[in-house]
Amino acid sequence: MKYAIIGGTGVYSLGGNVKEVSLETPYGIIDFSIMEKDDKEIIFLPRHGKDHSRPPHLVNYLGNMWALKEYGVEFVFSTVAVGSTRSDIVPGDLVLLRDFLDFTKSRPMTFYDGSSGVVHVSMKEPYCSMLCDKILKTINLRDDTIYVCTEGPRFETAAEISFYRQIGGDVVGMTNVPEVVLAKELSMCYCAVGVVTNMCTGLVNVEATGSEIIAIVKDRKEELTNLFVDIILKGDLVTDACSCRSSLIRV
Ligand SMILES: [Zn+2]
Repeated sequence: MKYAIIGGTGVYSLGGNVKEVSLETPYGIIDFSIMEKDDKEIIFLPRHGKDHSRPPHLVNYLGNMWALKEYGVEFVFSTVAVGSTRSDIVPGDLVLLRDFLDFTKSRPMTFYDGSSGVVHVSMKEPYCSMLCDKILKTINLRDDTIYVCTEGPRFETAAEISFYRQIGGDVVGMTNVPEVVLAKELSMCYCAVGVVTNMCTGLVNVEATGSEIIAIVKDRKEELTNLFVDIILKGDLVTDACSCRSSLIRV
């Protein structure tokens, strides 16, 4: 069985036997690392490219998810940096994403462009219920978090954040859509944990600096990666306990 961990930065140093792979996809070459441990292959995919050169609106979402599917990945664990719209979610917190509001504007959104007929994908459970249950049994973190995805790379205005909060958005980021949707289109189990790096615009007088945001992500990334690896190595993830492989609707 193959597993993947997607992160905003690509440097993972967990030891073990790691090899670098460049996989050609219809959407370009995708670089990732593979760690083999206990007869399991765990792929580490840097979302923004191995040199972190692609801003959120230009991430190769199609190539990234296609590469994972082509390599045979069944289960995907993702980390995303988020800002908080709520005073009870603060920098350093971890939140389990359960639903999203999509305010992206220009990025490719689907593998189904009509060449293979009209296909819809159910969003009843955007994030795999089985993987979410495993995470909740392993770590104490906020459940039921609603993620707002904005286009970026600019941050949001105070008026936008006020609006997102009013319609139910708990945290705001720039990368989880269409990643979560594409995973579902390819019938992979996918979950995402948000690392809260800052309070959103209008909630604090002094905004977080880039270095403060990076420091928080680095601080929690290793912990989260180890958490995901622990869940994977338990070896009890199954493909028939969720709806991820029956979410496509052809009409
Ligand atoms: Zn699933």
